Amino acid sequence: MSVVVQKYGGSSVADASKFRLVAERIMRTKKEGHDVVVVVSAMGDTTDDLLALAKQISANPDRRELDMLLSAGERISMALLSMAIRELGGDAISFTGSQSGIITNDRHIDARIIEVRPFRVQDELARGKIVVVAGYQGVSYRKEITTLGRGGSDTTAVAMAAALGAEWCEICSDVDGVYTADPRVVSAAKRIGVLSYEETQELAESGAKVLNAQAVEFAKEKGIAIYARATAGAIPGKDPSLDGTIVRKLAPRLPGSVVGVASEKEVLLIQSRKVSGLLRIMDDFGCPGKQLHISSMARDQDGVTLVISKENLHQSSKLQAHLTQHDPVALWNDAIGAVSIIGAGINASHNKVRAGSQALEQSGIRYYGLATSSFRVTWLVDREKVEEAVRLLHGLFIESKEPVVPLE
Ligand code: ASP
Ligand code: MG
Repeated sequence: MSVVVQKYGGSSVADASKFRLVAERIMRTKKEGHDVVVVVSAMGDTTDDLLALAKQISANPDRRELDMLLSAGERISMALLSMAIRELGGDAISFTGSQSGIITNDRHIDARIIEVRPFRVQDELARGKIVVVAGYQGVSYRKEITTLGRGGSDTTAVAMAAALGAEWCEICSDVDGVYTADPRVVSAAKRIGVLSYEETQELAESGAKVLNAQAVEFAKEKGIAIYARATAGAIPGKDPSLDGTIVRKLAPRLPGSVVGVASEKEVLLIQSRKVSGLLRIMDDFGCPGKQLHISSMARDQDGVTLVISKENLHQSSKLQAHLTQHDPVALWNDAIGAVSIIGAGINASHNKVRAGSQALEQSGIRYYGLATSSFRVTWLVDREKVEEAVRLLHGLFIESKEPVVPLE
């Protein structure tokens, strides 16, 4: 029988009443004749709440102990979801990440999956059960409990889909797919029907909350199709791009067009002239290199500028103290955000960079730095200007439908 993996985000299981809706959707999928594996996130804001609780005990909580704490969130929802399915007459069993065979490296807080050994999951599927897996967690070769970084339940789902040879992997949340910008910020934002792995990865790494970046990396490697869909909506029909977003190989696209605008508010800018020492401190702190750019664009200092995502950094005051000790004149700017435009080939000429920079300047939005890849242009702006910049760039590159830049 074909296997389908479904992941339900925290908002889909925010309170007890919501478990029933999710359980009903799972039962509908099962009745279509699929073997179903469900990956579930922690309820609502549980992960944030647990983090806040840890901060009340310690300003710089130990990473291993944080993993022990945070992994409890998904453990609660897996058990409750399994119970909800049983209430509807389904036969479900829940497993922790470790029981499901999610093997990671030994890096706490943002571990990477190295291998999936889903033997117990397969055994239970063979018995006709619906298997509910706790997202966001695994176990290292040293038998330590690890977590996969914020948003890591997506990674669990895609990795599980790859290991089981699933037909597809559904990522279900309170939005019905990936949008050209956050619809809460840009009212004209539109759902995108089909995205390539690379576009989705860049969107995720630029701060779009819909899909976790590492999960997309996994899907790309194994060629798994991801369907981003609304929990409250229908299960996938013949063309899942009609009421959701499909992420797959080779989305048809005009080269040079912007597919989306994403932003991240929780970034930190550090400037120092002592480069190698600074990078060593970052590594000592397990500081995620996910959104790390090095440039010497700072206007008033020709040192090195490092931009890092604060998402998985939970010991920032300790890091700041170490940094100041290493370089007393190091600059620590915690008041900025990053705004990015994404699209294959958008850097084939400097047209987009120029147009975007000019528009920001004309609107009085100062930018402190700029970074590009072949799929992305990122501007660093004041944190309180992030949303205004997103609306401006969305208007310029997506709503105005300006002509595609000819490839030179
Ligand atoms: N509960 C974790 C988080 O909030 C993992 C997830 O939801 O994907 O980041
Ligand atoms: Mg969550």
